[in-house]
Amino acid sequence: MSHVFPRHTKARLPLVARGEGCYLIDADGKRYFDGSGGAAVSCLGHGDPEVTAAIKDQLDKVAFAHTGFFTSEPAEALADLLIAHAPGALDRVYFVSGGSEAVEAAIKLARQHFLEIGQPERRRVIARRQSYHGNTLGALAAGGNEWRRAPFAPLMIETTHISPCYEYRLRREDESAEEYGRRAADELEAEIERLGPESVMAFIAEPVVGATAGAVPAVEGYFKRIREICDRHGVLLILDEVMCGMGRTGALFACEKDGVAPDILCIAKGLGAGYQPIGAMLCTRAIYDSIADGSGFFQHGHTYVGHPTACAAGLAVVSAILNRGLVARVNALGAALKDALHERFGQHPNVGDIRGRGLFLGLELVADRASKEPLDPARAVHKAIKAAAFEAGLICYPMGGTIDGRRGDHILLAPPFVMEERHVDEIVDKLGRALDAALGAAG
Ligand code: PMP
Repeated sequence: MSHVFPRHTKARLPLVARGEGCYLIDADGKRYFDGSGGAAVSCLGHGDPEVTAAIKDQLDKVAFAHTGFFTSEPAEALADLLIAHAPGALDRVYFVSGGSEAVEAAIKLARQHFLEIGQPERRRVIARRQSYHGNTLGALAAGGNEWRRAPFAPLMIETTHISPCYEYRLRREDESAEEYGRRAADELEAEIERLGPESVMAFIAEPVVGATAGAVPAVEGYFKRIREICDRHGVLLILDEVMCGMGRTGALFACEKDGVAPDILCIAKGLGAGYQPIGAMLCTRAIYDSIADGSGFFQHGHTYVGHPTACAAGLAVVSAILNRGLVARVNALGAALKDALHERFGQHPNVGDIRGRGLFLGLELVADRASKEPLDPARAVHKAIKAAAFEAGLICYPMGGTIDGRRGDHILLAPPFVMEERHVDEIVDKLGRALDAALGAAG
């Protein structure tokens, strides 16, 4: 009997024994291609010698020192490296242990910033309906994922939600992409005005939506307009790149492709690439200074902020991404994988949309391509695909996102940046078999 508390309490999971490049190998020796990097985590694959050496080296020096007493070499170097490449005026880095913590820190920083500058009435957060920002109460409150929120709604801070920028379903036929982007962004302005601009502190969004929708980028121009609207009303723009950041979309930071820079940026997953738990919140000098020149104390913190071993891993990972030219590789392999997905599934009767950027790609499944009618949620086809793919030796990240208030099925692919061209065929082939098995078996 196992004493581990798994998320799906009835699940019987194989023991993972080893990782080798793009593969995970279980205790029976079965090999799985890590086609989603777990949940868009393992961007360098498994067993990267440089990263493991950097971690061992740090462990030999000092594993941990509390940030109440010390800073550390890897934390300083990693912050310098991130800021050297960060967009806009981002200037300070606060290290945490994961994505939810990064979002919690961002929300608390936004609130404290407005207290410090004498705008205590700014307390409201606006987010988007199709979003996931984490599972701690503050991050969960920001997220727009109904089924995750519902049980905890009475415990959460007040957040309101606008529509996502979701071209496949929400652009009208009589609109250009540009017109749609403007209309979608203008919902933010209407919501700020409805709530009263003086009461709104931040708008939070994922540049490319991950867990709730399967790699949905915004249309061109959407985030530029969002940026203008935030500026016009003194609202901070928080971008959550926990899943889509760190090179995953073919730019080190996803927002670079949208041509905007946030006031606060959250990153995690690909920052540690799974070698250590680490996330970070980056903020502008102006926000930092409001606290530095005000109370002088950010009223937040966890024991493991700025963990030296985690920062050593992050430093080795970001250095690898930059020094090995992996962002360019993501663009090239992402284009090859997307082409192959179009070739194989472009006419599939149950594949409604193939989308995404770089090596962050999604498939949306439908009952009917013409009407875009979702599959019957009771069939939970995404779960059957996950199981069939796993059986076939492919790890992919399926989910039942919400479409027009109903559950819909998506599959997310986020393979390691170090994958080879030959893996494109392996992914598409195994996914094809999983789709056939799941859709066939499910009727
Ligand atoms: N934000 C986004 C966009 C995410 O995808 C996730 C995790 N899926 C989180 C926040 C939360 O990160 P974590 O699970 O590391 O707490």
